[in-house]
Amino acid sequence: MSTLIGLALAVTVTGYPKSLRKPMRLWVRGLLIQPFSFVLFSLRGQIPDWLSIIVGNILLIIAFAHVSQALRAYNRKSQLNALMFAIFGITIVGVILLTYVWPTLLGRITLISLVLAVLAGIGVDAIYRGQHRITRPEHMVATMLLVGIVIMMVRILYAPDAGLIELTTSSPMQGIVFTYGSLLPVIATSGFLLMCGERMNEDLSRLATIDSLTGVYNRRTLTELAGKAITASKRHGRALSLLILDIDHFKRINDEFGHEAGDLALCRVVEIMRSTLRESDLTARLGGEEFVAILPDTDEASAFVLAERLREELAASNFSISGWPVPLRASIGVGSLGPTISDLETLMRETDRAMYSAKRGGRNRVAAASSLEKVQGGLRQGQPEASSESY
Ligand code: GH3
Ligand code: MG
Ligand code: MG
Repeated sequence: MSTLIGLALAVTVTGYPKSLRKPMRLWVRGLLIQPFSFVLFSLRGQIPDWLSIIVGNILLIIAFAHVSQALRAYNRKSQLNALMFAIFGITIVGVILLTYVWPTLLGRITLISLVLAVLAGIGVDAIYRGQHRITRPEHMVATMLLVGIVIMMVRILYAPDAGLIELTTSSPMQGIVFTYGSLLPVIATSGFLLMCGERMNEDLSRLATIDSLTGVYNRRTLTELAGKAITASKRHGRALSLLILDIDHFKRINDEFGHEAGDLALCRVVEIMRSTLRESDLTARLGGEEFVAILPDTDEASAFVLAERLREELAASNFSISGWPVPLRASIGVGSLGPTISDLETLMRETDRAMYSAKRGGRNRVAAASSLEKVQGGLRQGQPEASSESY
């Protein structure tokens, strides 16, 4: 079964995304190596002991090491090559000593069981250590390994009572060990493949929710998350504000330095937004050079102060392309939930109007939705529209 599953997986591995190929290859190698150890064990007496005992045990350890390494690679952890070689070394020396110097089957079983338990422990650790969300298939694989650790420990404790003379002697403990040994490749591999499926789903949904250039949420996700945030704020009677930021004269950056420079500028703006805003604020790209931030628990006055700080941070960012300073300026509109603004559509519309009034007011400035009338009034009274600002 291991061989068949391993071969089937080996053929399909290239159809998986690149990030999953390394863990899958390691897993496949483990699957393909393990049956050889079982064949060598079963040929005890018919082939030389060194081949059956020494090589057989080493192959079993190598197969399990691949499984642990596959789980580490899956969770993007470094490979424990030095530790693995140390484990192989201890196993080889131990098995040779326990075969030729102090021949004892019980000693070999104890050594190999301990080593297998350590390797399974490394696999469990690879699954659970870290801050990622543990998926059900991961729990399944980890459970399979934990059961293995328990069996290995019980095997060490109960081996003397079983009156074990040969490895193939039939006893309840041996029955459990070999049943587990034959089920592990099937169940754990199913779990591992489900893990890979979950990872692909995660990656796809991330692609669908995130703007691929800047890494912030895209417009679709923003609409979804903003709707939820507004509902929550209204239910708890809390404030919520929105910023709409549009980079000033962004077209000039593209025209003068090229589209790639423009892309870099967009990423820099996002970097500055992230460092200026709170972790709980949601940042999204509306499209082009327009960004949005949702600020829960923030009233308009505080949001205005924050927007002003963001504008200053952008202006002081010392952004440059190939040594040429490229000033980053932005016009920011600020809007908040209130008596006249109670849904996302109105909030976006009013905040957008505020942003445009900041543009009209001369760019590189912040305007609040609540003072829209005032700003427009000021303009109507003949306030000049600053157009001479250099970017
Ligand atoms: P204003 O101050 O009035 O906002 O002027 P602007 O030049 O920033 O605005 P305009 O809407 O005229 O130009 C936006 C430009 O943004 C035009 C478009 O080619 C560019 N753009 C949109 N998306 C991207 C992108 O993903 N990468 C790059 N490099 N440029 C983009
Ligand atoms: Mg724009
Ligand atoms: Mg612009």
